[in-house]
Amino acid sequence: MRVAFLGLGHMGLPMAANLHRAGHRVVGFDVADRARDAAREAGVEVADSALAAVREAEAEVVVTMFQNGAQVLAAYAGVGGEPGLCGVAAPGTLFVDCSTIAVDDARSAHTVAESAGHRALDAPVSGGVVGAEAGTLTFMVGGAASDLDEVRALLETMGRRVVHCGGPGLGQAAKICNNMILAVSQIAVAEAFVLGESLGLGHAELYDVAAHASGQCWALTVNCPVPGPVPSSPANRDFAPGFAGALMDKDLTLAARAIADAGVSARLGSAAHEMYRRFAEGEGAGRDFSGIIETIRAHSRGTESPDDARGAPR
Ligand code: NAD
Repeated sequence: MRVAFLGLGHMGLPMAANLHRAGHRVVGFDVADRARDAAREAGVEVADSALAAVREAEAEVVVTMFQNGAQVLAAYAGVGGEPGLCGVAAPGTLFVDCSTIAVDDARSAHTVAESAGHRALDAPVSGGVVGAEAGTLTFMVGGAASDLDEVRALLETMGRRVVHCGGPGLGQAAKICNNMILAVSQIAVAEAFVLGESLGLGHAELYDVAAHASGQCWALTVNCPVPGPVPSSPANRDFAPGFAGALMDKDLTLAARAIADAGVSARLGSAAHEMYRRFAEGEGAGRDFSGIIETIRAHSRGTESPDDARGAPR
């Protein structure tokens, strides 16, 4: 397909490179010089502006992979009277936004695209940079099933699973609901290990029981927050991410916005948001989110310093 790919950052560049390698015609653009240079080095054709990328590719599909909803809406609609992507794309172009943004922003993006005579899908991903490079992302898609059918093969070039979640915004809804489960379960697993430590229960023994009992979950069996039981988990490399605390904080902030808008009682989700907000204010921003166990240990010992608690015999 003919694709304009906008936003060539940590996720966007490997995704665009996978499309290029699979034989699609890809013209990319990023506002950052460094990202454009890296894209050229990866063999991706780069235009001088986002609008030029759409024109030069004669794009049937416009993929965006930005940091937030404001960037997506500004790019779609244009700013300061300048035309946006929707103003220059050929009628009926399919806009696919893979950024993680608020549900209401995603719905606004659909409206902007559709009022300009185009079609739109929200298609946020999970799987991180490793999944983007390996082409094993999961796409959660909101919009018309017939539009998804048109780009399913394209998404499958960048990912392993494509799930149609429903109408506009429901891809984003699935993303924030999943990550709220993840945040709460990661905290629950960490609290259980800290409680076990204080009761004299070994990490290996708690793992052996919970991993094969009803406490089993991804936060335990893949992202185990103590070193040892799962050798590949970030706890074995001093919490190098993985999924960084700053990204978990971002996703929980989007979840909190949806919780408030919908008037839902989500006490654990809200508590997890508060814990990760604080975690991401400090060093936690750049560490794997399973490092929250150090905060829990530190608070359990009545000290603010995770270093005081780290490695202390129990
Ligand atoms: P990033 O900051 O590395 O990349 C975003 C890029 O978009 C930047 O290079 C920025 O310059 C560019 N950009 C912004 N506005 C632009 C515009 N108008 N035109 C062209 N380029 C523009 O971020 P990332 O880590 O690649 O994440 C991208 C999105 O994917 C985010 O919404 C993030 O929440 C989501 N996400 C990230 C991960 C991850 O592990 N990094 C995992 C899942 C989802």
